[in-house]
Amino acid sequence: MHSKKLKIYNTLSRNKELFEPIRPPHVGMYVCGPTVYGDAHLGHARAAVTFDAVYRYLSFLGYKVRYVRNITDVGHLEADADEGEDKIAKKAKLEQLEPMEVAQQYATSYHRDMELLNTIRPSIEPRATGHIPEQIQLVEQILKEGLAYEVNGSVYFDVLKYNETTKYGRLSGRVVEELMSGSRELDGQSEKRNPLDFALWKKASPEHLMKWEAPWSLGFPGWHLECTAMSSKYLGNQFDIHGGGMDLMFPHHECEIAQGNACHHTDPAKYWLHNNMITINGQKMGKSLGNFITLQQLFLGDHDRLEQAYSPMTVRYFILTAHYRSTLDFSNQALQSAQKGYKKLINGFRIADGLVYKEDGDVSIDVKQVGQIRKSIDAAFASMDDDFNTAQAIGHLFNLLKKINSLYTGQLHPAHLGEDAFNELIQTYRTFISEILGLIEEKGDNQDQLLQVILDLYSRAKTARDYQKVDKIRAGLKDAGLIIKDMKDKIDWGYEE
Ligand SMILES: [Zn+2]
Repeated sequence: MHSKKLKIYNTLSRNKELFEPIRPPHVGMYVCGPTVYGDAHLGHARAAVTFDAVYRYLSFLGYKVRYVRNITDVGHLEADADEGEDKIAKKAKLEQLEPMEVAQQYATSYHRDMELLNTIRPSIEPRATGHIPEQIQLVEQILKEGLAYEVNGSVYFDVLKYNETTKYGRLSGRVVEELMSGSRELDGQSEKRNPLDFALWKKASPEHLMKWEAPWSLGFPGWHLECTAMSSKYLGNQFDIHGGGMDLMFPHHECEIAQGNACHHTDPAKYWLHNNMITINGQKMGKSLGNFITLQQLFLGDHDRLEQAYSPMTVRYFILTAHYRSTLDFSNQALQSAQKGYKKLINGFRIADGLVYKEDGDVSIDVKQVGQIRKSIDAAFASMDDDFNTAQAIGHLFNLLKKINSLYTGQLHPAHLGEDAFNELIQTYRTFISEILGLIEEKGDNQDQLLQVILDLYSRAKTARDYQKVDKIRAGLKDAGLIIKDMKDKIDWGYEE
């Protein structure tokens, strides 16, 4: 069932456009992944959850999505610039590790956090260091097109030359002339002909840790080039969706568009999607502001700005309660209300699972109720079709939840809805929660607490010599594969051997 109604806001056109894939039913989607030199934070979570929801909805609509998200493990220099230290190499020096050890460590912790957030792993997750030959080839191609130049072993993209035929700055709405007047004069030290030019290949200084042999020098690729190499390799010269955080729009994505046009004479992607940023109590997140909170700190409540721990599903739900293009402000209050909202929805999920349709001869169909349910279902899908508006969809799910709760308490009889509307209500609700929004029930981490409650009850029953109750608790736990250990000075439990 391909929705012909899905509209996507395309940053390139600044319009909501009807989604028409290049080669239906296939969809190619490339999302800029993390530079793995530190723990993942809320910003990483927002990008990952946003494009997970996009991926899930497209798959739900029946598209066969190839989702590529890279790992940047080389070439991303400090301050996203063309000069300075490599972010990963800098961390490696600090921690006295191999750069690949740093990349591995933080790629692993990124995967752990994203799994906790229940994001589906991409179809392909390429690494920049695994695609050096492809990047060298692209540099050669751009040089051949006359749109790059070599200086002292480094190669730069010639933005002004490119701009003569293809406008540079279309994605971010920048104009070369304005960029020129706003940019600093080259200081005489720079090898670039023009401050807007960007590095495709950099000659490595002797102390540089990660370097490869190329026709121009022993060096390393530019950060922007990685994404062009990996996206075109796995998705073709033009694919459907390119995603990433708004902070990547300029210069990163702008440069990707320029490189794509220079090499392949086409824009690399048809639709460009950008998720907005997360602020913390209205402020930008930053290490210097003391409000830099990693996901692990958030999950454990281990930061002095946090009043409590917030579970991964609370964080996921919190992200989905805003449309991805809106800003989202983190505060304890907002997270606490997200926790409540998530629990309401997931309780509904459990209830819906246990509801069974039954006829009742005395009850007839309530047309008004059925009408309200159908309206909310249509509205929930229409929200997703409207540029993946999960925030609005969740609002409509709460309307469906009211009906589910009424069925649960008996205020509403299944026969009031008739079998079709009843099934539609249950199925839509469950599909939305688990398949489309990717919310799962979090259980298990309070098992120790629950056991302690049971052991306390057991101990009290024993003191009161209520042996009937004592036996009942023992038998109940035994059914669950656990035994109670009565010891001299304490009561404990163990697995039944
Ligand atoms: Zn990228």
